Amino acid sequence: MQRLVRLLVLMLLNGLWACVYAAQPLVLDEGLERQDLSPFLFALEDPASGMTIDDVRRSFAAGAFSPVDRSKSFNKGYTKSAWWLAFQVRTGSGAANRHLHWLLEVANPTLDSIALYRPGANTPTPAGDRLPFSERPLRHINFVFPLSDSGTGAATVFVRVQNEGTLLVPLVLWSPEAFAESSRLTYAGQAAYFGALLAMLIYNALLWLSLRERVYLEYVLYVAFLGIGLGAANGMAAQFFWPDSTWLVHFSYFGFGPAGVFVTQFARSFLNTRTTSVWLDRSLIGVGIASAASTLMAAISYQTAGLMVSASLIMAMLLSGWAGIYSLTHKVPGGRLYLASWSVFLVFAMMLPLRNFGLVANNVLSAFGVQIGSLAEMMLLSFALAARINHIRAEKVNAQQAALDAQAQLVVNLRESEQVLEQRVAQRTELLEQANRLLSAMSITDDLTGIANRRHFEDALAAEWKRMQRLGQPLALAMIDIDWFKKYNDHYGHQAGDACLVAVAGVLAASIGRSGDLVARYGGEEFVFIAPATQVSNALAMGQKICDALSAKDLPHVQSAFGRVTASIGVAAIVPSEEGGAALLLKHADEALYQAKAEGRNRVVLYQAEDSIYPLL
Ligand code: GH3
Ligand code: MG
Ligand code: MG
Repeated sequence: MQRLVRLLVLMLLNGLWACVYAAQPLVLDEGLERQDLSPFLFALEDPASGMTIDDVRRSFAAGAFSPVDRSKSFNKGYTKSAWWLAFQVRTGSGAANRHLHWLLEVANPTLDSIALYRPGANTPTPAGDRLPFSERPLRHINFVFPLSDSGTGAATVFVRVQNEGTLLVPLVLWSPEAFAESSRLTYAGQAAYFGALLAMLIYNALLWLSLRERVYLEYVLYVAFLGIGLGAANGMAAQFFWPDSTWLVHFSYFGFGPAGVFVTQFARSFLNTRTTSVWLDRSLIGVGIASAASTLMAAISYQTAGLMVSASLIMAMLLSGWAGIYSLTHKVPGGRLYLASWSVFLVFAMMLPLRNFGLVANNVLSAFGVQIGSLAEMMLLSFALAARINHIRAEKVNAQQAALDAQAQLVVNLRESEQVLEQRVAQRTELLEQANRLLSAMSITDDLTGIANRRHFEDALAAEWKRMQRLGQPLALAMIDIDWFKKYNDHYGHQAGDACLVAVAGVLAASIGRSGDLVARYGGEEFVFIAPATQVSNALAMGQKICDALSAKDLPHVQSAFGRVTASIGVAAIVPSEEGGAALLLKHADEALYQAKAEGRNRVVLYQAEDSIYPLL
């Protein structure tokens, strides 16, 4: 409230003071360094743009000029008319004031056409951005006219201005020294600003080249076009960007259009509005289209385009601020930095209107608020983009760590399953070995008696036959058959019969124990033994030993003539030759057994060939 009152009082005082002062011409005195000419201005509209300097001088003398709003710079907004401005000067009283030089600055570099009529002169000094830079009265980003005080007392200076854009004409009169001092500061500031802008542009362009993410390109294009627009607005474009092209200088102002397009695209990419908020996304697209349209409109109507660019820029800024608030409240990644950057920009940008209302002091911060704000904004956005890389890298590291963890877990799992597999294989191998042992034992052992079975016997017989053949040694074979065993079974039962067979096998095994000898069950109640390298006499003795052992065992057999279990044994022995083979030996032993049975059982009989191929050994 207090501020508002202060503002109103200020405006009122300013107005009154201006009216009183207006009657007086500006006194050109030695001490004068910088003078805003607004309080001394009179203006005349020239709607047909056809008035000559003579017409104008006559009109001025007739009082057709009217005073302007002297509290601020002359501003007619968008107008098709040419305007004539006039101010009066009067030489100061001191003799030292003769032939002083002054500079008149028109501090709006976007003005199309300016013509200065010095007192008494009928030929104007032209300026404006339609004139090549080299033809300017003074090489400066603003339009500057040298004036000299001829010392003729009071005089009137006329300035004719016309512009397709806003007709804003801030007129300032300077002493050359003060102007040089101010210009140095202005140029240093502009150089710093555009230098920083260029650095961020190049940095992010390089990031885009390496990352190929469109958000960086959008940022770079936004910065580039904003730079062009601001370059046009502050005159840098005309002096440094493209001094040789009045066309480019004239249209550089519309760099703000593409800037609006890319800043909205940037917001969409950076905040990922496509997925976070549909309405925000569509609004940004809408403002982007409006910005693009305003740029295209420049080809048709500069004024309409200028209005559209301003409107879409304001919309882009408000929407960007809104997007920032939305992103912060909805916790969109990067939202905080985004909002911070736009807040900084808006705060600085607002300094200018606040200064114009007299609410903040006129200093570097307020005068260059838009540039400082945009610089701070671009720096923060660049920082946000850098933070984004950090975010991406952190995500990558996390992903890599997760992959490593998964890999390590996989190795652990593999080892575990390998161990389980090894254990299983060991178990299975053990089982298999057991089974194999059992199987092989089963395959060579007689189930009932546990001594070698017939199969084992036949293998051993074939092997020993060959071995003895090689060695030229005799091989002895005996066939043993229990006497009257059928009767035993009948009398004692089959189970007792089995037990008897086991007992007989035990007697046989105990009796025939030399290494290389083999006792086997041939089948039923018949047994065999083979004895390699054994003479007939020894084989007979072995047979007898069995008979004796059985007698000694004295297994009862009431159905037997002997009253106990006995056996008949047929023995054969031969030095193996090619003829007949092992089967022959077996046949002979069987024949001997048959003979033993026939001779009364419980005895050992040696096979005797009729033709006596056996030598009596
Ligand atoms: P011989 O004095 O002439 O040898 O007459 P034997 O009764 O002993 O001979 P035979 O060939 O007529 O009978 C053999 C009997 O042996 C017939 C069968 O019941 C019995 N036998 C064969 N194998 C087994 C067996 O594994 N267990 C039992 N308990 N008996 C068997
Ligand atoms: Mg038999
Ligand atoms: Mg028998």
